Amino acid sequence: MIISMRPHATKEEIDHVCERIREFGYKVHSIQGEQRVVIGVVGVGDVTNCLESLEATPGVESAVRISAPYKFVSKEFRRERSRIRVNGLEIGGDDFIVMAGPCSVESERQILETAEGVARSGARILRGGAFKPRTSPYDFQGMEEEGLKLLRKAKEATGLAIVTEVMSDRDVTMIAEYADIMQVGARNMQNFALLKSLGRCGRPVLLKRGLSSTIKELLMSAEYLVAHGNSDVILCERGIRTFETATRNTCDISAVPVLNELSHLPVVLDPSHATGKRSLVPAICRAGVAVGADGLIIEVHPCPEKAVSDGAQSLTLQQFDKTMKELSGYIAIWKEARAHESLAVA
Ligand code: PEP
Ligand code: MN
Repeated sequence: MIISMRPHATKEEIDHVCERIREFGYKVHSIQGEQRVVIGVVGVGDVTNCLESLEATPGVESAVRISAPYKFVSKEFRRERSRIRVNGLEIGGDDFIVMAGPCSVESERQILETAEGVARSGARILRGGAFKPRTSPYDFQGMEEEGLKLLRKAKEATGLAIVTEVMSDRDVTMIAEYADIMQVGARNMQNFALLKSLGRCGRPVLLKRGLSSTIKELLMSAEYLVAHGNSDVILCERGIRTFETATRNTCDISAVPVLNELSHLPVVLDPSHATGKRSLVPAICRAGVAVGADGLIIEVHPCPEKAVSDGAQSLTLQQFDKTMKELSGYIAIWKEARAHESLAVA
């Protein structure tokens, strides 16, 4: 169950509602939204009785039953899309947002050249890993804080917002000083200590689907972030591991509409990790727009063959520009669909 309190409910009213919920044998998980306190009710008990009683309790605006194990991120909790504000942009709103940049931040020249190039082609957010989760401990591990400083320079030069990965709960505070969006990598989707500390980081989180994670597990990880205080979560489909070897991962394209059906959170698609092959990226970008993703996150490098990581799947600046031009017609149709949807909701 989710209990929404009235916008001006008093602390006494909220405490009283929580007390009543506990009397019914449930646990309480409350979050302070922008306008109101919302209380998640979890556990086993007499739902019908509890709902009826709470509906009549002072300060309560609505009490609804939510059957999914993920409550706050479910469509039942919120029917309209969540719009997440980042650096003057909205993800999940009326614009299709493209994030682009190298897999890893490698040098000042590399990141500035990429940032300027992708901004010129229409990207709104710069990606770049300064802390890299590598399969081998002998591979490049990232420039760490030096890399974050270079991302900040690139932001100052171009105005692009920054999305960068955080791998450990120890680094959350430091990375939040540089990043506009904190990326949780596929390998950390169920790092619950990290998710909990990102609950209070004050920045939106881009949560990538784990390599072998189900959609339900992805939503449960998103629920962790929200339950710990951060409702600004962007979901990311980045391909999953299957028996297929023709691509690095298998792009689960249907995950996008499935997530849109189950959750109000924005969804972005990563065609680079989903395929592992630069030649396939433009087609999967088009697919992402067509199935209703809110944006894309694409790897781009000024000289992919010299990239320290993921060169094979990185587009050159020229290829990125061409891809963006090809996408523009599809994005125009996407915008029309969104505009109709807003009218239908209103
Ligand atoms: C990345 O974005 O470079 C990355 C490591 O992605 P993932 O966590 O999806 O593998
Ligand atoms: Mn990468």
